[in-house]
Amino acid sequence: MSVAVVLSRGLAGLDAPLVTVEVHLAGGLPAFNLVGLPDTEVKESRDRVRAALQNAQFEFPARKITVNLAPADLPKESGRFDLPIALGVLAATGQIPAAALPQFEFVGELALTGALRSIRGALPMALCAHRDGRAFVLPAASAREAALVRDAVVYPADGLLAVCAHLAGRVLLEPAAPGVAPSAALHGPDLADVRGQAEAKRALGIAAAGGHSLLMIGPPGTGKSMLAQRLPGILPPLTEDEALATAAIASLAGRFSEASWATRPYRAPHHTASAVALVGGGSDPRPGEISLAHHGVLFLDELPEWDRRVLDVLREPMESGVVHISRAARQSTFPAQFQFVAAMNPCPCGWLGHASGRCHCTPDRIARYRGRVSGPLLDRIDLGIEVPAVAAASLCLGAAAPDADAGSTSSAEARALATRARARQTDRQGKPNARLSPREIEAHCAPDPAGAALLAKAMATLSLSARAYHRILKVARTIADLGDSPTIGAAHVAEAVGYRRFDRM
Ligand SMILES: [Zn+2]
Repeated sequence: MSVAVVLSRGLAGLDAPLVTVEVHLAGGLPAFNLVGLPDTEVKESRDRVRAALQNAQFEFPARKITVNLAPADLPKESGRFDLPIALGVLAATGQIPAAALPQFEFVGELALTGALRSIRGALPMALCAHRDGRAFVLPAASAREAALVRDAVVYPADGLLAVCAHLAGRVLLEPAAPGVAPSAALHGPDLADVRGQAEAKRALGIAAAGGHSLLMIGPPGTGKSMLAQRLPGILPPLTEDEALATAAIASLAGRFSEASWATRPYRAPHHTASAVALVGGGSDPRPGEISLAHHGVLFLDELPEWDRRVLDVLREPMESGVVHISRAARQSTFPAQFQFVAAMNPCPCGWLGHASGRCHCTPDRIARYRGRVSGPLLDRIDLGIEVPAVAAASLCLGAAAPDADAGSTSSAEARALATRARARQTDRQGKPNARLSPREIEAHCAPDPAGAALLAKAMATLSLSARAYHRILKVARTIADLGDSPTIGAAHVAEAVGYRRFDRM
């Protein structure tokens, strides 16, 4: 046989399109031509495949070899095609049997010794290979994440020789053990570690129950980051599909770790992060922080320190839950359904309103500081709270009887409440309250007459915007859900209005 076809996978966003590797041998002067890869990658790939074949004691044919990777318009990194190219050369020269090839898909970068090196994106590729009914052969170092795909047939291999022995039926590869199902075990730091801050913990519970965005304003060292870090742990457990989507993005970014499987992600990029780091990009587009936070929490500390142009790129994905990255003629789409949490100081020095009176910031400086946060971003915040300095006595462990600290809820308790309230939302409308459209808000978040009267009065006296109006209704709906109340009453509305204090900033 002088032609062989081997199947592999490319990556495009979170999709892994099928790539066909065709190897053709012809007479004439010995040559090794690769078609369908970017020029810069061709030489490296050729060198690796040639060395790996020779080091594995195979014969490298002294003929005219043409390798075609189709379709041609996919973005392709050469590394992962080393294994299918090498197998194609071997099959075309009759050094391995070609009969079994169509049942499998292969990916893996070859070391010069013929050993297989890990690749990124193994999980999205395994999902697609399984969907198309083929077994997936890949480097052992990347196999754990691929095996998380339920019922997928995944063969980890250490090197080229092991794959060839399998295809020849001499020594079969051991299929990867199936991945563990997502567990509902608690993870991360516990809410009970945060002393005091009962109001902030209450707001965190509401944010968890309804998926709401949250802004915390308070002086340094009052536990704003501690609170944010605890949000993923009190969110309802991930479903298997959500866990797979989250792991697939980590896999694409080359950051998958088994320890974080089925846990909600928490991303807290520094305020010097670029727009590309935040939303993703690059010549071969990679997911950014907002996609790495998919189904989890994105925490931005020191909000006024962020470059406004960087923050502006968040606005669209915050609404749509996806991010589109355009690069030359190509567009990649990554999911980015993150929960937005931000924190800031009340003034440049951080101590505005503190009893010590140590803040000397002028009203002008304070206005400029707060004005650095863009209005459109603030418009997308559901809950705003103050996180004040806590009196030393209540911070001191053992100083107060446990029941005196009204906020000392554990993460397990908070998550149970949030999970129950979230289930009410799923039953009622199929999505969390935070994601309701204006039309859906009308259908599901209408307050009772007393609640409506209170809201009308608050709108007038606090001169709130139409956006704020919708956000108050969604938050009031979540507060009612937490209290197992089918109707939204005046008390629910009043509490929700209380989380709009930042509107008057
Ligand atoms: Zn100040």
